[in-house]
Amino acid sequence: MSSPSAEQILSDVFGYSDFRGEQQKIVEHVSSGGDALVLMPTGGGKSLCYQIPALLRPGVAIVVSPLIALMQDQVETLKQLDVQAEFLNSSLDARAAREVSSRLMNGELKLLYVAPERLLTEGFLNLLERLLARESLALFAIDEAHCVSQWGHDFRPEYRELIVLHQRFPSVPRIALTATADAPTRAEIIERLALENARQFIASFDRPNICYRVAIKNNPRQQLQAFLEAEHVNDAGIVYCLSRKKVEETAIWLQARGWKALPYHAGLDNATRNQYQRRFLREEGVIMVATVAFGMGIDKPNVRFVVHLDLPKSMESYYQETGRAGRDSLPATAWMIYSLGDVVAMRQMLNSGDASEDRKRIERQKLDALLGFCESTACRHQTVLRYFGEVHPGNCGQCDNCLCPADTWDATEAVRMALSCVYRTGQRFGAGHLIDVLRGKMTPQIEKFNHQQLSTFGIGKALTQQQWSSVFRQIVAGGLLQVEIEAYGGLNLTEEARPILRGERKVWLRQDQETIRHTTSHAER
Ligand code: ADP
Ligand code: ZN
Repeated sequence: MSSPSAEQILSDVFGYSDFRGEQQKIVEHVSSGGDALVLMPTGGGKSLCYQIPALLRPGVAIVVSPLIALMQDQVETLKQLDVQAEFLNSSLDARAAREVSSRLMNGELKLLYVAPERLLTEGFLNLLERLLARESLALFAIDEAHCVSQWGHDFRPEYRELIVLHQRFPSVPRIALTATADAPTRAEIIERLALENARQFIASFDRPNICYRVAIKNNPRQQLQAFLEAEHVNDAGIVYCLSRKKVEETAIWLQARGWKALPYHAGLDNATRNQYQRRFLREEGVIMVATVAFGMGIDKPNVRFVVHLDLPKSMESYYQETGRAGRDSLPATAWMIYSLGDVVAMRQMLNSGDASEDRKRIERQKLDALLGFCESTACRHQTVLRYFGEVHPGNCGQCDNCLCPADTWDATEAVRMALSCVYRTGQRFGAGHLIDVLRGKMTPQIEKFNHQQLSTFGIGKALTQQQWSSVFRQIVAGGLLQVEIEAYGGLNLTEEARPILRGERKVWLRQDQETIRHTTSHAER
């Protein structure tokens, strides 16, 4: 009996006629004993990359997975395809677990899904050693490999100990898989799992059918209403807000205007959440107003829009959250609005938490990358993908910057005025006060601090309040000013402000659209 080929297994066992993307190369590489790191967006087809090698190689494949629900799903699916698969995790009682172990040792299994804490027990590692001695270990698959990263949201300390697989079973091929693809996470996976010699397979993370748009927040509810009316009547979509309270208020506000909107956040009881989730999945045109608690594992292909009424935490969050739109490959919109006030609030939140300084620094960098993206005038697809280390030619025709290029203006003079105003007022005031000084407005606050005496008082009358607000938003996003660590949100100069103050560098800023007339909320105080 000759052994079947990968193609035969693909069609005979899984019922598919063709491999997708790099699946075939990955299957060949792992089947022939190589280590691999696979980066593929959610839904890209990662499972087959280890399931087919598991069937091609002698022995059993051990699949490490962090989520019980996910293991159960996979095993269920495999059993329906007549593949001998089981899982071992805390959901099994002792007897059922023993049963699985004995089937494992009898060579009856082709795939065993196991929780990391179970795999790392000495007892289980001993079983693996016995299998190895019989040449019955096909491979190790480490799913959701980004769980080794301390900086991600899914950090699992046990994942770091999986390096033991390399140390104790160096001859067994390992394949690590994840949908979280930014360069720092990738580097951490390689280092923590000792995958320096693994071949990397990086699928494109481009989502060409999603039109990315970013706008300035001035009157969020009216803007949202206008967006929905103009583009997404009767469409299903998700509206992300930062707080539970805002989720509730926004959902009620939309309902009152006739939209089929439901709230979703971790503060609702389980039954309500499940009910709303079911309605979102089954009914047509439901708008889920939600915190980030909503979305993980939600597989609804026809989500036509994802709105961010507040900034996500990072580019990865933005990519993951917007990525829930348009899974069916039909056109979908990712629309985000933000203001200087949001930026200041986010920075304060990051600074005031009780995380370590290292962690705060990394989170600040992540937020900065996102702000850079917001203010960028370059193609959004290109900017998103560059963050994940992927090259995109730009000119996508599917983002605000490509569809209507932003005008820019030489703002060097204005930025110097703003920076010098920050300096002269002692680097402790928010944009609201600074703009009053620049525009020469007499306020009680200005009188109190005697700021009408400053050389910068009134030097910026040529720009409107609105224009100054845009200048401050962009230079905060661009890193020329930073938000004070203490609670007040005052702005101070960064190193990068120096060459501009000295007249050594020019600054071009984006011209905000004329339609934005309402006043932006500032970080006052
Ligand atoms: P991921 O783990 O990357 O999120 P999955 O492995 O769950 O993705 O695959 C997503 C879906 O795509 C599944 O329904 C799977 O059966 C399907 N799929 C994967 N590979 C192929 C293929 N070569 N042809 C057709 N469908 C596929
Ligand atoms: Zn573009």
